[in-house]
Amino acid sequence: MKKAVFLNSAKLDFDQKLNYSFLSDITEFTKYEDSTDEQILERVQGQNIVITKELPVGRDLISKFPESVEIICEAGTGYNNIDIEAAREKNIAVCNVPSYSTDAVAHMAITLILNLSASLIQQQNMLQRGNFDNFTKALQVPHFEVTGKTLGVIGAGAIGRATIKVALALGMNIIVFDPFAKPWGESAVQFVSLEELLKQSDFITIHCPLMPSTKHLINKETLKLIKPSAYIVNTSRGAIINEADLIEALKTGKLAGAGLDVQETEPPALDNPLFFMDNVIMTPHIGWRRFESRQRLVELTAANITAFINGKEINVVNK
Ligand code: NAD
Repeated sequence: MKKAVFLNSAKLDFDQKLNYSFLSDITEFTKYEDSTDEQILERVQGQNIVITKELPVGRDLISKFPESVEIICEAGTGYNNIDIEAAREKNIAVCNVPSYSTDAVAHMAITLILNLSASLIQQQNMLQRGNFDNFTKALQVPHFEVTGKTLGVIGAGAIGRATIKVALALGMNIIVFDPFAKPWGESAVQFVSLEELLKQSDFITIHCPLMPSTKHLINKETLKLIKPSAYIVNTSRGAIINEADLIEALKTGKLAGAGLDVQETEPPALDNPLFFMDNVIMTPHIGWRRFESRQRLVELTAANITAFINGKEINVVNK
């Protein structure tokens, strides 16, 4: 039986409620709650399969991996934590789980959009401070319908398309920027350039992967194209937005607000100005964390491993 080690299971199974039989039935399975770089090198000795969850595994570490390691399985969709090129050079396959939380992340993006349009956090904060102006006076905060508003979707992959499905049901107009996606039979969606998307959108939602070409896609220059009344929602990866430039745009009224499930540094520094802006909603990278998504992740990681063991590898991202 192949030997598999999960190096940081606590990241996935923080409530210890997940069922690992899918993995222990098919491998000699060991798991550790978390691992330092030093521990990673000790723990991969003699292992064939290494499982990680957003754990940084860079070139330095991979170059010291023993010959026994055949595959690194990222228990997630984004795999920017693993140096896939360094793994390829050592003939180690890297696989990911493309869609285990597609609907959950899409619903997170929609939750942020609806919250921002209803100024939910601001309304709640005012009431908790004993300020009842919103009962008795004209509303002190933005509050508007999303129906008829334009949603710009950057990246129309699995999560982008799932978000579009719900947004269409809410009556939003959809424009998409994705240089690689092909139309998928949704006639209500219009493909546009990034520039057009930024100029026309009332809400922008980001669903492309973080790669060198998408790092800081939203920056000082691209932010200038966005309407001051527009909102940005990011449930993909924090570094797709240049956070310092975003903060500046929010501070100077060049953007109405932001909903950020992901940040450039996670967790953000305690004094990060985003924490103190009431037109910003920040959540701690929870799009994928609902119980059902996490259990599905264990099962789909096991499916990747079964396919690999049977010589019919799937979801390999570095070959
Ligand atoms: P996917 O691969 O199905 O879709 C990504 C899409 O982005 C593809 O259609 C691709 O063509 C497009 N794309 C690539 N480069 C682009 C560019 N420069 N500009 C615009 N579009 C571009 O992936 P997915 O399942 O939809 O996931 C998207 C991202 O969501 C993942 O990469 C991951 O980082 C993030 N994610 C976040 C959470 C969370 O908890 N918040 C959970 C899962 C995934």
